[in-house]
Amino acid sequence: MDLNTVTSYRRAASRADLALAPGEALLAGGTWLFSEPMPDVTGLVDLQTMGWPDIEETDGRLRIAATCTIARLVAYGEEHGIPLFGEAANALLASFKIWQTATVGGNIVRAYAAAAMTSMAVALDADAIVYTPDGGERRLPVAEIPTGDGTNSLGPGDVLRAIDIPARALRSRAVLRKEALADHGRSGAVVTGRVDADGSATFAITAATLTPQVRRFDALPDPGSLAHAVGSADGWYTDPLGSADWRRAISLVLAERIREVLR
Ligand SMILES: Cc1cc2nc3c(=O)[nH]c(=O)nc-3n(C[C@H](O)[C@H](O)[C@H](O)COP(=O)(O)OP(=O)(O)OC[C@H]3O[C@@H](n4cnc5c(N)ncnc54)[C@H](O)[C@@H]3O)c2cc1C
Repeated sequence: MDLNTVTSYRRAASRADLALAPGEALLAGGTWLFSEPMPDVTGLVDLQTMGWPDIEETDGRLRIAATCTIARLVAYGEEHGIPLFGEAANALLASFKIWQTATVGGNIVRAYAAAAMTSMAVALDADAIVYTPDGGERRLPVAEIPTGDGTNSLGPGDVLRAIDIPARALRSRAVLRKEALADHGRSGAVVTGRVDADGSATFAITAATLTPQVRRFDALPDPGSLAHAVGSADGWYTDPLGSADWRRAISLVLAERIREVLR
C-alpha cells in the first residue's frame, strides 16, 4: 500500500539517526507498516541500514538483531539444530514471501497477541535490549513487551536493538504447539514447553492470552498441576479468531500434549 502522507525517508546508520522527528516512524521489514493506512506517518527511518549483525553467538548467549528477518532466523535454526525457530515461524499467518522481509523485532514490537517471534522468545526466556532516546539502554524480558493485543511497553523513541537468548534455554528440549480455528488461519493459541538441563520446566502461553503467560516448575509437572497452572492464566480473550473459552480449553490440551512429549 502506498503511504501517501510520507514525504521523507532516511537510512539510519548510527544511534543519533534513530532520534525521530515528529511524524517519523521506524521502518523494519515494512510488512505491517505498508499493510494499512498510516495517516499520521510523514517520514520513515530505515533500521535495516544500521548494519546490526543478524545473529551473534557471544558469552554463552545468542543475540538476534531486531532487524534479522524471519527467513534468516529459520535458516539459522535449521543449520544449528534449533527447530523452535522454524516452528515459531510456521505459527505466523504469513507466507514464505513475508518471512523474507518481516523482522524478528518488527514482529515483537508490533505486539499482536499472535506474534510468533514473541512466542519463540518467551519460550526461550529471551531478554530484549532496548535503546532509549537519552542514549542509554535497558534490558527487560521479552515477555514484558506486549501489554495487550497490539500494544507494547516501549516508550516514545525506544528502539528494540536485539533479543538475547540464554545458553541454558538453547540447550533445553523445547516444544511449540499451536492451534487455529481455520486450517491456515492466524494462531488462536500457541503453547510452548521447555525442560532445562537441571530438570526445571517452563511453559508459556501466547496468542490465546492478551499478554504472554509464563509458568515455571522445578521439574516437569504432573497433568493436574500443569492444568491448574495453565487454566489459571490471565487474559483469555475473544475475537474473530476464537472465543476466550475455546482459547483456554485448547491451551490446556496443547500444554498436556507438550508435557507428554517432554516426559
Ligand atoms: C500476510 C501477512 C500475515 C501476517 N501474519 C501475522 C501473524 O500471524 N502474526 C503477527 O504477529 N503479525 C502478522 N503480520 C503482521 C506483520 O507483518 C508482522 O508482525 C511482522 O513480523 C512485522 O515485522 P516488520 O519487520 O515487517 O515490521 P514493520 O512493518 O517494519 O514495523 C512494524 C511496527 O514496529 C515498529 N518497529 C519495527 N522494528 C522496530 C524496532 N526494532 N524497534 C522499535 N520499533 C520497531 C515499526 O515502527 C512499526 O510500528 C502479518 C502481515 C502480513 C502482511
